[in-house]
Amino acid sequence: MQFRDLHRQYQAMKAEIDEALLKTASSGAFVLGDAVAELEQQLADYVGVKHCVTCASGTDALRMALMVLNIGPGDAVFVPDFTFFATAEAVAMVGATPIFVDVNGDVFNIDVDDLSEKIRYTEEHTDLHLAAVIAVDLFGQPADYIDLEPLCRGHNLYLIEDGAQGFGSAIGGTKACSFGDISTTSFFPAKPLGCYGDGGALFTDNDDWAYLLRSLRVHGKGVDKYDNVRIGLNSRLDTIQAAVLQVKLKHFDDELKAVNDIAQRYNDLLRGKVTAPIVPPAVTSSFAQYTIQSDNRDAIQARLKKADIPSMIYYSRTVSQQTAFAHLGQQPCPVAEQLTHTVLSMPMHPYLTDQEIEKVTETIIAAV
Ligand SMILES: *Cc1c(COP(=O)(O)O)cnc(C)c1O
Repeated sequence: MQFRDLHRQYQAMKAEIDEALLKTASSGAFVLGDAVAELEQQLADYVGVKHCVTCASGTDALRMALMVLNIGPGDAVFVPDFTFFATAEAVAMVGATPIFVDVNGDVFNIDVDDLSEKIRYTEEHTDLHLAAVIAVDLFGQPADYIDLEPLCRGHNLYLIEDGAQGFGSAIGGTKACSFGDISTTSFFPAKPLGCYGDGGALFTDNDDWAYLLRSLRVHGKGVDKYDNVRIGLNSRLDTIQAAVLQVKLKHFDDELKAVNDIAQRYNDLLRGKVTAPIVPPAVTSSFAQYTIQSDNRDAIQARLKKADIPSMIYYSRTVSQQTAFAHLGQQPCPVAEQLTHTVLSMPMHPYLTDQEIEKVTETIIAAV
């Protein structure tokens, strides 16, 4: 059994993928070829925003969002303490200071009350300029934008959505990667919409920012490609990745339905045994991860391992506990720290079979 079975996905789409790969090979347009612009339009339409600008990774997308918002040294950017390292890494990369915020222990996302508290604390105890909040759609579930948007507006903070794990999810009819001022996502192979290497994208309704992003990804080019008017990056999505993503996007809603059905099946079989992930009624998750919580986490993982079932601990340490951020010495985030001892992510992908789901749940139940 695979944790995320990309081989089965390829088999299911093989004819279309192979055709797309060969078409790119014979086109000769390997960087920013036609498929890139086509994909950007398709992704913008899918999400329901005006502009999509693709780039080389989800990490670059975050960095470019911060660059467009002119965030740098002396700025504070609030980030959840329970997320993948890159969310905070991008903040440090532009020279700003990440301020770690605790998360909600039920949905794993940034806790709005603790955010208010950390805003107050940072205002009172530091000289930093309060610049932005990066909210993460962790494990495929959108952060609480209903409460985050007015809070950020009230404090004059930009709101950036890190939708690397949330592409395809929604609150009501509003799709992830359309929340806040600017949104980012990743097409790393294991993400809900993954390519065959690294890739990322930004989403915004702001025409000026979209223009700037298109300049930043090509070394800060001006109207004339060989007049560089600002310091940028080399961060494009390869044509071949765009071609793969165009195929996968066609099947994406079917895959979303499949992972939601599988999550429901997991929930039914695990009810009362471990804490299953909680998805509020108005929310549709993209189930980048199916993450349970249990005080017997380590025993469950050992049992799964013995049965040859892969499982992962996302995350075994909080971001503020990472060696690279240890020097910051910030206010504690006790819920995030507690989660590092109880979370366990199960095999989850659209091609998981009923027998596999039952094998996973029976093994968990035997362990508890
Ligand atoms: C994967 C991920 C990123 C980084 O994306 P890459 O494409 O791997 O650079 C950023 N934030 C979160 C929450 C992620 O899960």
